[in-house]
Amino acid sequence: MIYLRLDGHQYQYEVEDILKLFFMDEKIILVSEDSFDLSEGVFIRSSLVKREAGGNIVFELNSSVKGIDGLTYESTLDITQIIEEISDTHKAKRAVKRVIKRQVYKILVQYTKKEMPWGVLTGIRPAKIVHEMLDNRHDKEYILEELKNNYFLSEHKAHVLYNVALSEKKILDSTKSDMVSIYIGIPFCPTRCLYCSFTSNPIKKYEKMVESYMAALAKEIKSVDKMLKDRMLKIQSIYIGGGTPTSIDAQYLEMLLKEIESTFCLDFVREFTLEAGRPDSITLKKLEVIANSKVNRISINPQTMKDETLLRIGRSHTSLDIIEAFKLARGLGFDNINMDVIAGLPGEKLEDFLYTLHEIEKLFPESITVHTMSIKRASRLKDERNNYKLTDASEVAKMVNAAYEFIRGMGLLPYYLYRQKNILGNLENIGYARPGTESIYNVQIMEERQTIFALGAGAITKIVYPKENRIERVFNVKSIEDYISRIDEMIRRKEEIMHTNIQKVKS
Ligand code: SF4
Repeated sequence: MIYLRLDGHQYQYEVEDILKLFFMDEKIILVSEDSFDLSEGVFIRSSLVKREAGGNIVFELNSSVKGIDGLTYESTLDITQIIEEISDTHKAKRAVKRVIKRQVYKILVQYTKKEMPWGVLTGIRPAKIVHEMLDNRHDKEYILEELKNNYFLSEHKAHVLYNVALSEKKILDSTKSDMVSIYIGIPFCPTRCLYCSFTSNPIKKYEKMVESYMAALAKEIKSVDKMLKDRMLKIQSIYIGGGTPTSIDAQYLEMLLKEIESTFCLDFVREFTLEAGRPDSITLKKLEVIANSKVNRISINPQTMKDETLLRIGRSHTSLDIIEAFKLARGLGFDNINMDVIAGLPGEKLEDFLYTLHEIEKLFPESITVHTMSIKRASRLKDERNNYKLTDASEVAKMVNAAYEFIRGMGLLPYYLYRQKNILGNLENIGYARPGTESIYNVQIMEERQTIFALGAGAITKIVYPKENRIERVFNVKSIEDYISRIDEMIRRKEEIMHTNIQKVKS
């Protein structure tokens, strides 16, 4: 149990974010006084005090932690200068939040004797900080020092993040302002994986709805095409994800690809990805349909090459199916294949994970994405957590480090990364690619510098206004039934926001 007391400020969310890094499974209880049973947990206090000293107003930040052993660690900081120097209230608040997070982090490091690989960075997109510094023309030395001294990143993570941001920058800098990307969601899968939190529905149960879903999608494709043409926007990349797009029959897959190709202008599309995803959804016929389309990048995702783990996580295929699907795809000429793996799957140890990497190396994919296991709120794993043995955080860290060395040894370099809530060991997900095969879409979705139109059930469109440093989101309903029956409303939602913004620009 974690008892948290805040005085003089209300940055509960920020402080809790830091607490969760150290006490992932503990319940946090907000208290207003110091009377509680310390034998049950840890007491953390963070307070902002305004007082007079020598005729001047002083702002002081105090944080302390007290544990079962009675030991107290505390820190006091004078932040008067920060508050007085920043005239913009919004910026001043941000600066104060940052100092509070750092102060709480530091006392928790003292208390737990543990440092976090990503320091105080709790957001999903850590590379954004580096991009900001690069935009402000700071050099490598400055950026690395900032990451280590101000955000408390480990030496290794600071270098990884810097290199990833540099790699992303090439794609971001080559993107013109009239370019957008398209995401199309196919929310069906053969079965639901243990850790899944995506919009995914078992295809067997929903088979009868696929036709209507495709019809609704076709309508949305046409409407988005009109929005793009009216505004003279060009498509840079297309990503068909899900779910598992190859869950649907070859005839529907063909229908979808033809709809995309006959509607959108593909003249400027540099990358067209289709997530074949699970091998138990891949057939020769489907791969032929994809091979005959404009798709130039696919994903075949093993997650693990250990058969017993595949069974444990609810995937109805074997490692042999993965190898066969991959070879089938290669045989049809697919020359840009990504493979996803997960470090820290329930019951796996470092040697299991290394086995997976060795098996994947034999297939020689163009890119590999290494996810770290995370316990997502909407997943079955979250509900059934007690039934599974989660991999120890230090073992997961070894896996992630081993992947970094191993995959770089294969000639693939890290090119994008992101983090998630409740990720084991507070680690990260990294995409590695052979130079020249980095996914444009993955970089764009992560760095949020490009508008992405998202179509299909549960898809979220992001309209980016770089000059205003602002993003507007348009949500599609998650349920397949609602998406089909309310497709006109989904289209209207997008049209309205585009219309409103055009009006704003004009006025
Ligand atoms: S394949 Fe992906 S989308 Fe489908 S159930 Fe598994 S994790 Fe979810």
